[in-house]
Amino acid sequence: MSQVLMPSQKVATIFNFIGGEFVAATSGKTFDKRSPVDGRLLGLVSEAGEAEVDRAVNAARAALTGPWGALEMAERTELLYAVASEINRRFDAFLQAEVADTGKPASLARHIDIPRGAANFKIFADVVKNVPGEFFRTDTPDRQGAINYAIRVPKGVIAVIAPWNLPLLLMTWKVGPALACGNTVVVKPSEETPSTATLLGEVMTAVGVPKGVYNVIHGFGPGSAGELLTRHPGIDAVTFTGETRTGAAIMKAVADRVRPVSFELGGKNAGIVFADCDFDAAVEGMGRAVFANCGQVCLGTERVYVERPLFERFVAALKAKAESLKPGRPEDAKTGLGPLISQEHRTKVLSYYEQARKDGATVVTGGGIPKMEGELARGCWVEPTIWTGLPESSAVVREEIFGPCCHLRPFDTEEEAVRLANDTRYGLATTIWTTKLARAHRVAAKIEAGIIWVNCWFLRDLRTPFGGSKQSGIGREGGVHSLEFYTELRNVCVKL
Ligand code: NAD
Repeated sequence: MSQVLMPSQKVATIFNFIGGEFVAATSGKTFDKRSPVDGRLLGLVSEAGEAEVDRAVNAARAALTGPWGALEMAERTELLYAVASEINRRFDAFLQAEVADTGKPASLARHIDIPRGAANFKIFADVVKNVPGEFFRTDTPDRQGAINYAIRVPKGVIAVIAPWNLPLLLMTWKVGPALACGNTVVVKPSEETPSTATLLGEVMTAVGVPKGVYNVIHGFGPGSAGELLTRHPGIDAVTFTGETRTGAAIMKAVADRVRPVSFELGGKNAGIVFADCDFDAAVEGMGRAVFANCGQVCLGTERVYVERPLFERFVAALKAKAESLKPGRPEDAKTGLGPLISQEHRTKVLSYYEQARKDGATVVTGGGIPKMEGELARGCWVEPTIWTGLPESSAVVREEIFGPCCHLRPFDTEEEAVRLANDTRYGLATTIWTTKLARAHRVAAKIEAGIIWVNCWFLRDLRTPFGGSKQSGIGREGGVHSLEFYTELRNVCVKL
């Protein structure tokens, strides 16, 4: 069992999952996992130290050269289809765990987090079975010729470091392709969201994935399990989703051993709303882009540029949208907005709310903490917030806040909109709203971001390349693009 009640304890302990077993840290160290909804203690998490990280990496290495490495691709992919089915069979357990850890509305996790978590295993099993090969007939001086072909081999033991905003979804987005390609993994979920990664260990065991293929170690970043993992000499590659500055720290940690990294990092995404847009669709789409998951979505929008004739009307409509979102318990169907993930994150978001005031913003709505009753008063709530009137140089417009908030600014020309949208060190996603076909393509081609949505937001096809430009990431994952990171290509040249 991943979560058990010790006789002396009132709350469950969440263990590490290493070599197919749930194990406590030899140090006996644990840390608290509290509910973002009401501050309740949800569990004690066993914090992995050097011994556990070492054990997990060794278990992953042994599986690679042992039973997992011996499987044919068809056998491996069958196991991944079984993992997907088993997550769906245990859907409610995953849902409850994800909602408890994050406090997000259950409807959101039901429709996005858990189904996508399962789909990530299925889609990459499909991808690896259908990847085209590479073959060349080569001329040689003796006119006999040679044939060249490339084979893909697993990279080895992959360190997977995941964030807390979409815990199962983002973690399996890496574990799915890593395993499909024949690698083994050591996962370090966020300290804020330890549960679903741990539950996945039970799924792996239940469907017969060999021990050591999937390992989970719990803990923090610097000086804890995260850093220990990235510094471990037995790791062949690191795939990470999280903040840009954490990505920089991980790059330094792997630099001496020259290990490859795949990074999905932060963003300060723009929305561009042209006066010719479908107004209702744009308000609905930008409303989701700003407030979904309490603004804790890397692809979310925190800067909205609206063509001047539409500006006042658009601000008013987005304000109405924000004010319609009622904070509340995840399981309450009327809840439109969950809490932020932690008190620490709330302090950070509120510091930007304060900074906006200092920088002279007009606070269109929100800007503070909502009044919550009873136990909910101990939760990590903030009001959905909209500003106008800030200079583009304000930290509120330049830095990623990761909260339910945005700044709106009018623009006059297409060129100005493109310039404003691109004026950032990030480049993850931009959303364009227009009914003019040529304009949509023209603007999309000029946007410096990994993902450009036209008249939609968060519409994902998992076969497409996903990743960020500039400081929003390194590399692309998704569909066949994931294979570039999770496999190594070897060239075989056969003289005829
Ligand atoms: P974070 O960088 O603080 O933490 C992410 C993970 O890294 C956690 O598991 C953490 O424990 C670990 N970590 C922290 N420091 C480390 C270190 N020095 N060495 C090794 N591991 C370390 O990010 P977060 O707060 O969990 O997530 C929010 C951030 O993630 C935002 O910046 C958001 O934009 C970004 N994000 C990006 C994407 C994307 O696809 N580009 C998706 C989701 C979230």
